[in-house]
Amino acid sequence: MVLPIVDDTPAVAPQQGRRSSYALRVSLLSACQLDCRYCRPGSVTTPSTQAAWLSPGEHARLAPLLLSRGVRKVRFTGGEPTLRKDLVDVVAAWASAGARELALTTNGLRLPSSLPALVAAGLRAVTVHLDTLQEARVAFVMGPGASVGEARQAMRAARDAGLRVKWNCVVQRGVNDDELGAMLDAAADDGVELRFIEQMNTGSAAGYVKETFVSGHDVVAGVGRLSSSTPRSLTRRHASDPAALWQVRRRNDTGARDVVFGLIASDTEPFCDACDRLRLSAEGRVRGCLYEPGGLPLGAALRGGANDAALGALLDAALDGKRSHHPLAPVLRQPFSMADVGG
Ligand code: SAM
Repeated sequence: MVLPIVDDTPAVAPQQGRRSSYALRVSLLSACQLDCRYCRPGSVTTPSTQAAWLSPGEHARLAPLLLSRGVRKVRFTGGEPTLRKDLVDVVAAWASAGARELALTTNGLRLPSSLPALVAAGLRAVTVHLDTLQEARVAFVMGPGASVGEARQAMRAARDAGLRVKWNCVVQRGVNDDELGAMLDAAADDGVELRFIEQMNTGSAAGYVKETFVSGHDVVAGVGRLSSSTPRSLTRRHASDPAALWQVRRRNDTGARDVVFGLIASDTEPFCDACDRLRLSAEGRVRGCLYEPGGLPLGAALRGGANDAALGALLDAALDGKRSHHPLAPVLRQPFSMADVGG
């Protein structure tokens, strides 16, 4: 099933309003050295320019405002956040402001060399994105320069550095859906938690997404077909976690083991009611929903000389106005890429 993008109805989206706590996604840039087939093609969003990126000093100014309003978790993403030369300084700015749960989403290619500095700066968790285990496939799926070996090495290095590690895989029909079992085994071997992700209908790469879409339901069914047991649903660790948890029995030559995996099916099984996401774009726009167009210009206000009270008021407006702009809600929007908004 592929959900339509509704583009001719008024923007009246369900109100979500204030949350008692928030998980913040901080996009650090739109650029990425890879080119996943479902991500950027067809996006009409203008990528952020380097001059517009919030600096570590500007992050240091905004972090206390966001933390005092209930931000508990901060995840740096993009684009590819490790392409920012000042990534360690940005992480340190948030840690100095008191953020404790600091995480990074990355393709892993440039991670190992900066791991010691990132850990010293306060990073606690990493999610590495890898859509196939086959070197012969990876360039087709994720673009030239992608490497299975380097992504897995990055996961192991992060694990050995004491970080919590997750592995994100976007499932694509006829492309990598024959690898679900092999990926579960590889994740268990490496001691990392795999999360299968349903392609989200952002409007970009629309033809590819339509052709290769696999619903979360079909992912679980596929895992069951490739395993020794029917997957069993577990309770989410936190109600606001995007990933539903499943457990399945995997058997190999040496025996059997139960493997837990996550499933993020944002479009077919939306979790808007429990959603506590806030998003800060590279240039400092605040959004309450990935699908929300625009957002409030916190970064521009900061650069325009606004004091903390004025910045706080803008932020409060963003929090009060948090709404679901999910594809199931009728909204006016244009195709965008996760890399531009911060996936
Ligand atoms: N460069 C980093 C990476 O590769 O993880 C961070 C940015 S990337 C946009 C974050 C995540 O978004 C990746 O796991 C990617 O696969 C996922 N993503 C991008 N477009 C998507 C889409 N249309 N649906 C679902 N996931 C998507």
